[in-house]
Amino acid sequence: MAPKDDVLDLEICIIGAGMGGLATALALAKQGFRRINVYEYASNLGFVGAGIQLAPNMARILDRLGVWADIEKEAVSLNDTSIRQGSTNAELGHVDLLYIKSLYGYSHMVGHRASLAGSMHDGCKREKAVKFIMSTTAGDVKSWGPRPSFTAVPREGEPYLVECDVLLAADGVKSTVRDQLLRLKNIDAKIIDTGQAAYRIMLKREEMENDPELLELIDKDSVTRWIGEKRHIIAYPVSNKMIYNISTAQPDQNFAAAPSAMYTTKGSKPQMMDVYGDFCPMVKRMLDLVPDGEVCEWKLRVHEPLPFWVHEQMALVGDACHPTLPHLAQGAAQAIEDGAVLAVALSRLPEVTPEAINKALRVYEEIRKDRAYALVNLAAASGRAMHLGEGAAKEERDRQFAALKEGKGPSPDKWADADVQKMIYGQDVMKNTEEQFDTIYARM
Ligand SMILES: Cc1cc2nc3c(=O)[nH]c(=O)nc-3n(C[C@H](O)[C@H](O)[C@H](O)COP(=O)(O)OP(=O)(O)OC[C@H]3O[C@@H](n4cnc5c(N)ncnc54)[C@H](O)[C@@H]3O)c2cc1C
Repeated sequence: MAPKDDVLDLEICIIGAGMGGLATALALAKQGFRRINVYEYASNLGFVGAGIQLAPNMARILDRLGVWADIEKEAVSLNDTSIRQGSTNAELGHVDLLYIKSLYGYSHMVGHRASLAGSMHDGCKREKAVKFIMSTTAGDVKSWGPRPSFTAVPREGEPYLVECDVLLAADGVKSTVRDQLLRLKNIDAKIIDTGQAAYRIMLKREEMENDPELLELIDKDSVTRWIGEKRHIIAYPVSNKMIYNISTAQPDQNFAAAPSAMYTTKGSKPQMMDVYGDFCPMVKRMLDLVPDGEVCEWKLRVHEPLPFWVHEQMALVGDACHPTLPHLAQGAAQAIEDGAVLAVALSRLPEVTPEAINKALRVYEEIRKDRAYALVNLAAASGRAMHLGEGAAKEERDRQFAALKEGKGPSPDKWADADVQKMIYGQDVMKNTEEQFDTIYARM
């Protein structure tokens, strides 16, 4: 069903040009919306240097939005994943991932964040409908509806008021729109300290190629995870195997007492080497390649689930409403699903009234919320399983990993579990929204 002409004239403001904001803008433009303004605090999208898993549920959407081919060109398609004991490098579990393409239409790939975000950004720039207002912070929300408005604060120049028909807040894990909404509603959805922090590292191929064992790692089409008590390291090649991406999770020492606004810090290399001091020599040689002063540490914070994501003509998107631990590699994928579902839901509006907009946004929330929070919980559970110390639970986990090598049973590392993959990759959220919109909307 083609969207109505007056629906496509809705003025839509998006706060944040991260994974969720870019996907939302592009998805709206592809539905035919003509007036999409994206406000971004940063002066340019100098994307974080890190890798990212590109799961089939993300690829399916990006393909429809016309940007997957560019991302796929530089990405690495995975043959398998190997889960290893960090201290010995002994393989605990092994999962073949080649079947994913035939089951879900897309391979499981890994790539560079700059390529993912850059391709979505380029896709947006090709759309006349999308305008970026950079170096501009969205400040106070003055109205949530019927015409939402907020103060835009440019880095240079005077603040000004922005009004629109639909406000979409994709302002990330530190979302200030979310904070304002919670204050307004007197809801206390606390920041949860996960007690975990992550180092994110990118090694260049030339830094690894003189070490045959490390060269073998970057040359393999594989994700390797080394696990130990309360810690793990996950690594894979990106950018046509010119870069090896390493991300870790360990007990947080540096942020524990830091204010909750603090999310990244320059890490200390000696401290990092110490945290992984009992891991095998190969892993330590790999970590030791990181130049001093280039260790970046991220605090892993999540929030309590929110009772709602929508208020009047405003909706939260991505990490602003469902921040997650990275252990399932679905945070960006879920933000992109949000954008795609929002675009379909708004395109199906039967009329242009504030009530109808609110109902369409609530259809988005209903379709997305349980799924997104289920994955947040699974990511946390996967982290707990991987971080087990000695004892019966670890023995059972390692038995399950061993059975996996014979292709049997569940994977304790949940992103590599066939049933979890089916639940995540087997759902086409855009199609579901097309099919379910009328029924849910009628019930609102
Ligand atoms: C260690 C680690 C590894 C991860 N690995 C993966 C993975 O493999 N796969 C995966 O799918 N996900 C992964 N994720 C999760 C993923 O990065 C996030 O879930 C995703 O980036 C969320 O997108 P977002 O658009 O909601 O927020 P963000 O991408 O954080 O974007 C928010 C944007 O809003 C802007 N902004 C904020 N406030 C304002 C304001 N007031 N005004 C204007 N602009 C504003 C910011 O500058 C930013 O550009 C990982 C996360 C971590 C920490």
